[in-house]
Amino acid sequence: MPLRESDSIVLKTYNLAEADRIVVLFTREFGMIRGVAKGARRLKSKFGSSLEPFSEVHVEYFEKEDRELVSLQHAELIRSSFHAAASPELLETYAHLADLLMTFAPPHDPNETLYRMVRASLSVTLAEPTEASLLKFYFEIWILRLGGFLPDWTICGACRRVLSEAETATLGEGYQLICGTCLQTRRPGETISPSYRITVADAQRLPPAEFITEKRNAIDIVKELSRIVGRLIATASGRPVLSESKANL
Ligand SMILES: [Zn+2]
Repeated sequence: MPLRESDSIVLKTYNLAEADRIVVLFTREFGMIRGVAKGARRLKSKFGSSLEPFSEVHVEYFEKEDRELVSLQHAELIRSSFHAAASPELLETYAHLADLLMTFAPPHDPNETLYRMVRASLSVTLAEPTEASLLKFYFEIWILRLGGFLPDWTICGACRRVLSEAETATLGEGYQLICGTCLQTRRPGETISPSYRITVADAQRLPPAEFITEKRNAIDIVKELSRIVGRLIATASGRPVLSESKANL
């Protein structure tokens, strides 16, 4: 029974029995794990307040081969998310991020890129509550991309031609884009203007804080795109992750 250790993000906690807590962690070294923190709800617990959701902590745990839950031994706070406590919009967005991670990140499958992106997303501050929709969109694009569910919007999905910068395309089957020429033999769908394609590309190119700063004045475009991305996520996960009203946050 080896002792493992890793930096990790606390995604969710549940109460277990009288004094214990189940903790869902996205670890840097080992991917998603679920563990029991014995006595974590006691006043003088050795875990202190380190296991609050959305904190980054360094954990030590034992893993038994035949058990799904690991046994947490120690957790040391690296960074808390206290800045989010006063913002219901941020907390709701973080809860959505955690939900997406638990849906899409396979257990025991580490992903350094995803870990860094989650950590960066949890450290952004918002100038306006409405900017939470930008962070949510940013994270959704990354989850889809890392899961291999994000279609390539740089090309026409039918003729594979690279779309020019100023070209307007149409949303086709499987969320591929269809160019004007190919559209002539197809049913018309939603119009995707160049600014939409640039926004999706920027989400993949920029760190979260910069994306939010750059798209502050493009929230309407992001909201429109969020409707499409929300449907894509529901299709990819096989279940609706959020209701339509929340998806339009
Ligand atoms: Zn085409």
